[in-house]
This record gives sequence, C-alpha cells and structure tokens, in this order.
Amino acid sequence: MPLSKIQTTTGTAEPGQLGRTLIHEHVLIGYPGWELDARAPKFKRNDAMIRAVDQMHELQSHGVETFVDPCPMDFGRDPVFLAELSQKSGMRIICTTGAYFEAEGNTYTFRHMPMEELVEIYIQEIEQGINDTGIKAGAVKIATGAHKVSDYERKLVTAGARAAKATGVPVISHTQEATCGHDQIDIVTGEGCPPEQLVVGHSDGTTDFDYQKSLADRGAFVGFDRFGISLFQPDEVRIANIIKMIEAGHLERVLMSHDSIVCWLGRPFPYASSFEAMLEMLPNWRSNHIFKEILPKMRAAGVSDEQIQTILVKNPARLFSRGLQ
Ligand SMILES: [Zn+2]
Repeated sequence: MPLSKIQTTTGTAEPGQLGRTLIHEHVLIGYPGWELDARAPKFKRNDAMIRAVDQMHELQSHGVETFVDPCPMDFGRDPVFLAELSQKSGMRIICTTGAYFEAEGNTYTFRHMPMEELVEIYIQEIEQGINDTGIKAGAVKIATGAHKVSDYERKLVTAGARAAKATGVPVISHTQEATCGHDQIDIVTGEGCPPEQLVVGHSDGTTDFDYQKSLADRGAFVGFDRFGISLFQPDEVRIANIIKMIEAGHLERVLMSHDSIVCWLGRPFPYASSFEAMLEMLPNWRSNHIFKEILPKMRAAGVSDEQIQTILVKNPARLFSRGLQ
C-alpha cells in the first residue's frame, strides 16, 4: 500500500514541508570495492562529518531545507552517516534504495538474484529500514548505462519501478551521456507509475534540447542536475536549455541540482587520481553553486523569482507527493 508521507533519514515529512530542495546531491560515494584500495587516503569519518555539517549550514544560508542524496546502495551509501548529519545540521536528508548501472555497480549478488526478491528488498528498505538501522529510504534510485539498457539494468530498473509503484516513493534516475531516458520512462510507466513519479537524471549531459523536451512531453521530470560539472557540459548550455523548457511550457518538469559530493570514498578513477584533484579541476562543482552563480544569471536572463520557486520548491514537492496516498 502506498505511503502517506515522505520518508526522511530522521522521520517523515509532508510534501509542503520540503521547502527549497536539492534533488540530486551526495554526501559520501565510493565505487564498489573502494575500501579495498590500500593506497587511497583513509576515510576520516569525523573530518567528513565536520565538512558535511559546514556544507549543510552553507546551504541553509541559501534557504535549502531538503537535501536528497540518491546514492545507490552499492556505491558507498551510508544511511547512518546521513541520519547523524541530518541531526547535527538540521538539514532534512532523504536517502534511496536501488542499485547502480552495470558498468560501475554490477554486484554478483544482484546479478544472480531473482527480480521478485530484489523488489522485496527495495520495499523492505522503504517500509522497514535499511539493514537493522531503522533508517528508511525515501526514494528509489535507478540507473542505466550509455545508449543501451543491459539485461542487468533492465532487471534492476524494473524492480525499482515495482517498489515505487507499491510504496509511492519517487524514482530518481542516473543516465549516462543523456541517453536511455525514454527507456527509463517506458519501464517505470510500464510498471504502473505515473511519469511524474520519475526524474530522468543527468539529462543536462547534452546540448540536445529536443531530447530534453521529449522527456518532458511524456510527463517525466527532467533533471538539470549536474550544474558545475563543466567536464560534461558548460552551465551556459544548461541555463539556455532550461529557459527553452520554460518557453516550451515545461517549467513544471524542470529540476535543478549539482550531483556534488562532500567526500569521495577511495579514489575517483578514471576522472582524477584524488578527490582533491577533481575538485580543483571542477571549481564550480559545489553544492552552493546554483545559489551563488546560476540563479543570478537566470534572473538576468528573465527567469522570475516565482519560476525559480517552482523549480526549487514546488516541483520537488510534486515529485515526492505524486505516488503518495
Ligand atoms: Zn549522483
């Protein structure tokens, strides 16, 4: 039976309480096996917590009330860390169930598990909590690779859609190279979820506005959620295409975020040999970048405060309430 409230790492919330929301950011992430890398800098939990609390306070100074961390369960997810961070900072934090795409996740266990059991595990993490923490997932993460959905990914995405259908939580996706968004919509709606329960993530990894519009035409949310990652696309393209979305009547389909990371567990191969080097390479890839640099540019280009409010407050609330009872 669908839930009646949004699940956070520290309790529940009503859609109207979310406020200004970053829909796709990360506190901790690490590739499967990161802890086996004896040459990587050691993970210092206390230092990471201090850094994370500072970042949450900085975001609160920009009016952010809710931080969604759709870390896949096989990508360094740490719900206890997130719940503690939420308590220490006062930031509302939402975590997810669901696994990463084949090339970067691909656990032996999930590869060989029947889909029905995967669905049960996802639902258990949403309804009862993750392992024995009692901390509940508030959304499902799905992920696909570039250009083609593999059999492994199809199984996991379908399981995720079924869990979302059963519980009403939203589906937050990862796409590679801004491809396969339509496959994700096909699978998620094919399992009975309304398209508005899905955000097709990382759809800003292309200049192709027609692709982005075609996702919105089908009713899904379109994630412009990698602001600051100039490696994949300049922010100017992201801003220009959001304005085109608004002009095309799709303001209510736009979500904005950074896909930022507070602390990378292990080393971020193949992008850089250390997380610090990666941050140096991408100076704007910070969770406050939208507020400091992007919103002023959008306002200067004619986007109104009311439209910004729709993107940062109303749209996330709609995504999170669409499946609730
Ligand atoms: Zn991400």
